[in-house]
Amino acid sequence: MENKFKAFMDTVRMKNPGEDEFLQAVQEVVETVWDFYLENPRYQKAKILERMTEPERVVMFRVPWVDDKGEVQVNRGYRVEFNSALGPYKGGLRFHPSVTLSGLKFLGFEQTFKNSLTSLPMGGGKGGSDFSPKGKSDNEIMRFCQAFMAELFRHIGPNTDVPAGDIGVGGREIGYLFGMYKKLRNEFTGVLTGKGREYGGSLIRPEATGFGAVYFVREMLKEKNDTLKGKTIAISGFGNVAWGAALKATELGAKVVTISGPDGYIYDAEGISGSKIDYMLQLRASNMDVVEPYAEKYGAEFFRGEKPWQQKVDIAIPCAIQNELNEEDAKTLIDNGCYLIAEASNMGCTAEAAALATEKVMFAPGKAVNAGGVAVSGLEMSQNSMRISWTREEVDEKLNQIMNNIHQSCVRYGKSPDGKINYVKGANIGGFVKVAEAMLAQGVV
Ligand code: GLU
Repeated sequence: MENKFKAFMDTVRMKNPGEDEFLQAVQEVVETVWDFYLENPRYQKAKILERMTEPERVVMFRVPWVDDKGEVQVNRGYRVEFNSALGPYKGGLRFHPSVTLSGLKFLGFEQTFKNSLTSLPMGGGKGGSDFSPKGKSDNEIMRFCQAFMAELFRHIGPNTDVPAGDIGVGGREIGYLFGMYKKLRNEFTGVLTGKGREYGGSLIRPEATGFGAVYFVREMLKEKNDTLKGKTIAISGFGNVAWGAALKATELGAKVVTISGPDGYIYDAEGISGSKIDYMLQLRASNMDVVEPYAEKYGAEFFRGEKPWQQKVDIAIPCAIQNELNEEDAKTLIDNGCYLIAEASNMGCTAEAAALATEKVMFAPGKAVNAGGVAVSGLEMSQNSMRISWTREEVDEKLNQIMNNIHQSCVRYGKSPDGKINYVKGANIGGFVKVAEAMLAQGVV
């Protein structure tokens, strides 16, 4: 059995040389579903795992555009259409200098299981570009988005592939991308999610990932007869996810004491609440990718070049980027009394950090914790198809329900006889089963 697993991973490694993040994500999933896979010979016979680890299609393209100085710039664009067993490919677009094919393959792979966990009819995909929005003018961002869509429009559609936002892509970028798609296709459809309210966007979508993460944490605490009230939370990042998480955690009585950016982190002992949370949106809109101005504005402490995991907190919610919390960070957090780590970023913890946290404290992986964003994207697709618009309360209630269901799924597949819940195993098997069954039913395609 060990040998078979090793042989399987060796083949994946050989087929995807040097793609460390993709291999990390595959290893984590395959490791946790392996016993389950072996118990089901029909999955093996149909080579379900071999097929799941191979994207259905990858599109890679040139994105040439002209900057404000009149100079030609060339970026690389991608869309990884990973798995369409459950519905149209669905997943965000990331604009960040760190974007590579390996990174997007890992994200598209994860997205497949995450989307499955939401129970909504969505396959998995991811895309983006190595374009950095940092320091760009609004016009430059618009021209880049238009150039990006000038190629992407051929490959997407409301029943084929429905992109959305991710790091570096928010409401503004979705607007520019949507405008160009509409112009090129002469068609007004729900081809993107995360749209503005005026043209088909859903209420709660901007807050959804952060809200969903906090709803999930609330369920984890409930397992221990505990609540968020009075808890101290360290959050990383200062974008959409961190903003939504800070908003909801504060509303439910917790105190968020940190946010971070590429320049360092903020420690605000008073708690990041009220207008301080709104200020995070202003920081992002400035396109400067820094949090230091928060310290100047509110008189909080700023730690240049450091990560927030050195602070003493009850709960840590990484909300920035993959592998932002390593084994050393996890050890420091746990030694300082942190008893719950929930990834709101995709694969926010390194494999070693996740293993340590699973062993010592409560730990939940991104594909469960951050599924609220894509879940509300799924609800946006439904509203677009029905040409209706649900109220804030309706969407929030549905989001809450979906997060509770995901938690139940983790418990169902991840609880061992001694009562401990392995959320990584639970989320992976829970996400895997539906995709595997759909692939079996659809034959070898
Ligand atoms: N980028 C988000 C994620 O990682 C949202 C994707 C979507 O809404 O399609 O799940």
